[in-house]
Amino acid sequence: MLSPRAQKIKPSPTLAIDSRAKAMKASGIDVINFGVGEPDFDTPDNIKEAACRAIRDGFTKYTAVGGIDPLKDAIIGKFQKDNNLAYKREEIVVSCGAKHSLYNIAQALYGPGDEVIIPSPYWVSYPDQVLLNDAKPVFVKTVESDSFMVRPEALEACITKNTKALILNSPSNPTGMLYDKKTLEKIAELAVKHNFYVISDEIYEKLVYDGVTHVSIASLGEEVRAKTIVVNGLSKSHAMTGWRLGYAAGPSDVIKAMTNIQSQSTSNPNSMTQKAAVEALNGPQEFIITMRDEFDRRRKFVVTELNTIPGMSCIMPNGAFYAFPNTAKIYGARFGDKTISSSTDLALYLLEEAKVALVHGEAFGDDNYVRISYATSMDDIRKGLERIRQALQNLEIRK
Ligand SMILES: *Cc1c(COP(=O)(O)O)cnc(C)c1O
Repeated sequence: MLSPRAQKIKPSPTLAIDSRAKAMKASGIDVINFGVGEPDFDTPDNIKEAACRAIRDGFTKYTAVGGIDPLKDAIIGKFQKDNNLAYKREEIVVSCGAKHSLYNIAQALYGPGDEVIIPSPYWVSYPDQVLLNDAKPVFVKTVESDSFMVRPEALEACITKNTKALILNSPSNPTGMLYDKKTLEKIAELAVKHNFYVISDEIYEKLVYDGVTHVSIASLGEEVRAKTIVVNGLSKSHAMTGWRLGYAAGPSDVIKAMTNIQSQSTSNPNSMTQKAAVEALNGPQEFIITMRDEFDRRRKFVVTELNTIPGMSCIMPNGAFYAFPNTAKIYGARFGDKTISSSTDLALYLLEEAKVALVHGEAFGDDNYVRISYATSMDDIRKGLERIRQALQNLEIRK
């Protein structure tokens, strides 16, 4: 008999589509994959070389659980330079990916009776990490016309005496939107006034466009800094998803608890990866600009094209590498004896008919959208969007 905890959670909902797409690909079908959540760039050579050097030098043993000091110092330097935030080593813990950092936070903070506010659409792991720790996710809907930012009044209406934390993600996966400083200031005020934690997932910090600036909510004053745990990592900024390295910064009591939890589960993050991470943070950063400029080019193309496809409309995201088109007008359309009445139906239709894989918005808590990742080649983007257009032209769509 499995534990009640294990019975409460579901596998990542993106899996159904993904495994189907992979099976199709394996059987020789040419599927265009807009489902991926990782950069299509290779990790820069200087970073790879730092890891090779670590192996040759025999840096292959256990390290300090929460990360080696040179890496903590590199992270401290990054916070100072990018976010104007001053942290000490005891306020930093390095983990096996930002997802692991978020999980450690969940273990350290959430328990029975706690409520954790999650603006929707949300990243798929947030609700399940809350459930895994016997706490309750409380969803607050955000809308396209607010650029998918949570309204402070809507947030305040969800707050109870059991509110333990709010999970913020800016720039956002799946919407690609970024919080502005004014909204963050209002959210910070609420966190201080009602005494809850802010978990700020800033993994897409480096991927912002149109000259907008990313603001970390922790930088908006001492009081909110004391209630904020900032999560970041190298997966997206340095194309290092497979290396597994993320980190968190926050009040030392929370960081200490996270480190203890880590000491009883994974121990230290991979030793060679830590050396590579020091190089990633302290070495040349031009790679990020090159990658960002390429994403920017694709972003403009994808969004412009999507807005010419009947039934779809898409606002221009200013961060991450996702477009999040509204597909509600397509629902009700028929093909053969079937009706497309949800984002899941639409995703399955596009996979079967157009051989294009994308993620249904339902997975992120909003059925009126689908997520298209443009972390794939321009050739594939052109081909994939043309296929979507063709497939939708075969449908009868409401005006
Ligand atoms: C990719 C991603 C993460 C996790 O990244 P790691 O590979 O675990 O470092 C966390 N949050 C969001 C929103 C992401 O998209």
